[in-house]
Amino acid sequence: MKITFLGTGTSQGIPVIGSDHPVCLSENFKDKRLRVSILVSWGAYTFVVDCGPDFRQQMLRAEVSKIDGILFTHEHADHTMGLDDIRPFFFRQGDIPLYAHQRVFTSLEKRFDYIFATENKYPGAPGVIKNVVENKPFLAGDLSIVPIDGLHHELQVFGYRFDKFAYLTDMKTVSDAEIEKLQGVEVLVVNALQITPHRSHFNLEEALNFIAKVNPKRAYLTHISPHLGFHDDVEKELPENVFLAYDNLQITI
Ligand SMILES: [Zn+2]
Repeated sequence: MKITFLGTGTSQGIPVIGSDHPVCLSENFKDKRLRVSILVSWGAYTFVVDCGPDFRQQMLRAEVSKIDGILFTHEHADHTMGLDDIRPFFFRQGDIPLYAHQRVFTSLEKRFDYIFATENKYPGAPGVIKNVVENKPFLAGDLSIVPIDGLHHELQVFGYRFDKFAYLTDMKTVSDAEIEKLQGVEVLVVNALQITPHRSHFNLEEALNFIAKVNPKRAYLTHISPHLGFHDDVEKELPENVFLAYDNLQITI
């Protein structure tokens, strides 16, 4: 299985427009972060988790020509606003399978009504196949995916386990029963927004505590804000099996 980090930044990305925060001014490519998303590939299959406003750029940058579906963690704009840009995939492949909680579909149907329209559909609008995710395993390609249920402040979000790999973003609270579902994961990705506490995201300390509970072989931090600090400085302070993700990082499991 191959994972590509398409974006590792918080909702505004890094640099933030107009910001003079030192991290936003950094020339290190590892400090430049598009909105959070990953590409997961195995065998003949390629899935994307979330498609935020940078989706088009991310697909071009990673040279993706085919996707087998998009899994959504939740409906916030930084995770969904690129949906219109599935058009090139739709034109080549036909309807694109989406996997999400019913609440996320309800939100997408409002914002992208023309994509979900069943009558008088605009000819250039993409088509999708709705796969409603509940908190139980489901099939994507030939793999059973295990949703991990958590809370982003008060909003329900799903993380996803793909065999030995798990990806959790925008988490603040995860119950012990859900953590149990991560047993045996070798590579874990989890959100770590900043140093100071935040009401809807793990800060660095909470992310490290969470990683210690799950105890994977390796862990990567994502959904990073400028307030976490410079990539190279933060990474020096991390435990030896924990790394900061950065855009375009590829890992193989
Ligand atoms: Zn987010």
